[in-house]
Amino acid sequence: MANAVRGMISPKLLDAMECPACKGPLRIVSNQWLVCSGCERRYPVRQGIPILLVSEAENPQPPQSEASINSASREKHPSASHERSAVPAPSPDLDVQSAKEDISSETKHFDEYYRKTRKPMSPSDMLWIQKATNPSSRPLDYWEFVFYLVGDVKEKKVLELGCGGGWMSRALAFKGASMSAFDISLEGCVSTREKLIDAGFQFDSIAVMDAHSTAFRDSSFDVVFMAGVLHHLNGAKVAREIHRILKPGGRVVGYEPLKYGPVMWALKQVWLKLHGLKDYETTEHEEGLSVSDLDVFKQLFTGGFTRRFNFVAKTNRLRNRFGPLANSLRWIDYILLSTFPFLRRYCTTVVLCFEK
Ligand SMILES: [Zn+2]
Repeated sequence: MANAVRGMISPKLLDAMECPACKGPLRIVSNQWLVCSGCERRYPVRQGIPILLVSEAENPQPPQSEASINSASREKHPSASHERSAVPAPSPDLDVQSAKEDISSETKHFDEYYRKTRKPMSPSDMLWIQKATNPSSRPLDYWEFVFYLVGDVKEKKVLELGCGGGWMSRALAFKGASMSAFDISLEGCVSTREKLIDAGFQFDSIAVMDAHSTAFRDSSFDVVFMAGVLHHLNGAKVAREIHRILKPGGRVVGYEPLKYGPVMWALKQVWLKLHGLKDYETTEHEEGLSVSDLDVFKQLFTGGFTRRFNFVAKTNRLRNRFGPLANSLRWIDYILLSTFPFLRRYCTTVVLCFEK
């Protein structure tokens, strides 16, 4: 059974997807390719995972400009690009190019990382899963708070954008979500599939995609979830893509690291030195956000908010994240930030929640 799932492309997956280049319908060819009926691009399937990247597709047609393909498909699928027309789109050629550039270095980094960090579920994972399935409504811990904001997702269509090794997708599946997930890393997707299957869950779709131009149809999801992904990407472009693939009334929930100001940066260096720790390894594209980087969500979505966390409670580094020390640090933050809102500018994590 598990092998069948690992090797086969589910027809369910095709219902939700379209060609990321021209929005044409996709078909499975000998379980090795997803072929677009619009532009005939052939997307490979590797280790049972479809690679829906324009940069990886084989295009049997003679070189044809992207612009003419796009205009042809717009006539065929008039609704496809309707949502995007509100914001002037950059040249499609540039899109393809920048997507390619993004993918090469980031994919390499993350393929390596997820290959190294693949491991079966441990008892401590269960503690996190319990927090995710039964989160407190009090905004103390950003991680727990995003799972509170996700709400009741039983049998709802949930997408994890940038699923990485599948840690959060598994937690969302435990909450009853009907999961879809994608990442630019094939290793990440394989690991996500493994985690879901090993925990006894089925899923709708797992594929390699680029968050700037996914292969999902318009209005596909009730919830889009992302954990520390946006700060690797062109945030404005991804926000438009999230808006497109969410159903009306659907919501996006996530958290992101914020840029360290000079004060927090200096404190961090002292703290790392005292504890003999090195800073996290970052990728080429990675850069902490400013809260103003999320303004694009306010413009696109009907409502929502951001909330900043982690003033003194940088609890990620604590061995016992849900232990008494971490809890008291979070309470200190909660009280300080509620009493002195100007301190929020020194926070280093932001949670976002917006509704379409
Ligand atoms: Zn196509």
